[in-house]
Amino acid sequence: MGAGWTGAVAGRLLTDAGFAVEVLEKTSVVGGHSRAETMNGVVYEPNGAHIFHTDNQAVNEFVNAHGLTRPYDHKVLTEVFLSPDDDEGHLLSWPPQVDELKELPVWPTVERELASLPLQPTGDNFEDFVVSMMGRTLYDLFIRNYTAKQWGRPATELSARFAPKRVELRRDGHRGLFRDRWQYFPPNGINEVIESVLSTVAVTLDSEITVDDAHRLGQDYDAVIITAALDDFARCPGELEWRGIEMRSRFEPTDGPGGVLTPAYVTNRPSTRVPYTRTVETKHATGQQIEGTVVSEEMPGAPRRHYPVLTADGANERRNTELAEKIAEHFEIPVYFAGRLATYRYINQDEAIADAMAVAHRVATELGG
Ligand SMILES: Cc1cc2nc3c(=O)[nH]c(=O)nc-3n(C[C@H](O)[C@H](O)[C@H](O)COP(=O)(O)OP(=O)(O)OC[C@H]3O[C@@H](n4cnc5c(N)ncnc54)[C@H](O)[C@@H]3O)c2cc1C
Repeated sequence: MGAGWTGAVAGRLLTDAGFAVEVLEKTSVVGGHSRAETMNGVVYEPNGAHIFHTDNQAVNEFVNAHGLTRPYDHKVLTEVFLSPDDDEGHLLSWPPQVDELKELPVWPTVERELASLPLQPTGDNFEDFVVSMMGRTLYDLFIRNYTAKQWGRPATELSARFAPKRVELRRDGHRGLFRDRWQYFPPNGINEVIESVLSTVAVTLDSEITVDDAHRLGQDYDAVIITAALDDFARCPGELEWRGIEMRSRFEPTDGPGGVLTPAYVTNRPSTRVPYTRTVETKHATGQQIEGTVVSEEMPGAPRRHYPVLTADGANERRNTELAEKIAEHFEIPVYFAGRLATYRYINQDEAIADAMAVAHRVATELGG
């Protein structure tokens, strides 16, 4: 169930292995959260910026085989206001770079704080962990308000578990956001790559499946792989906490076909002067030569299932595991859960593909293919 990366790749691998596979997708398009759209011909991303990056060789070979090969080095900027009286923000790299910070008037304070940090970051909640990684001043400038806007709750209530993956203080001058060996951005958005993956797979669109379909599915199929959000699938919305975004996307004219309007593909806006967390202008990444551009403001707090909420006590993850067990009890055939939504994990596209490879292997082994 689901024609995002996870469902598409699992479907493809099992089809290639000789199984009769059907991918059932609730919307009228494939691609899930990674999908791009166009506005007046300009490619933009209605579910937020999606940069493909991986260090996983098998995943890299798989996506290369489906046309994802155009290299892209993703660099993010952050607009930082050093004092409430500043009219204009400073555009600094994200993650913060020590060599850039040295040029700022707050550097003596930052330097003192950095000198007194523990060797390894510590703390169970997100705020304690990040402050112990970069000091209070940098945390306040880059992270505190961004996190509060993004999650709608203080960072002290959030888990430190995703901090090492998302937050860093750079001392080695590496400007790219990622350090993975392979990074790509397809010129027309990721859709055509996912469509290539699904080109040999039977896909049924506009087909929303829920736990109420368990008996029927048991008659038609030998196994199911669920990539849907489990509270949605089990028809108990509210059982799991999610955080969603709304991309407020607008078309703007430009000065010539190469024109762009914001400083970078992704510009973080941690200030409370604006309600959104970042601006996204995908044209920086596609390099499209076209009149006009689309700028999106990423508004947090939309009622959508974009991010699992990983609280410090792990309660939501436990609820997801319980839901998976309850759903499996409704089926008379084996049920597998994979991908970002069904396993309630904050994973990237390459990890979703790796998940799909693992689940396809399990299904093939257990069904004797
Ligand atoms: C704001 C944001 C930014 C991100 N940025 C990046 C990034 O820069 N780089 C990166 O690598 N990753 C990024 N990701 C993560 C990436 O989107 C996911 O890892 C990837 O899309 C997961 O694929 P999936 O197939 O597991 O889930 P999804 O893409 O969510 O696909 C699930 C599919 O299942 C369908 N579905 C749901 N319920 C049902 C049902 N009941 N019946 C049938 N079908 C159903 C949905 O319509 C959807 O098509 C980002 C995610 C978000 C939310």
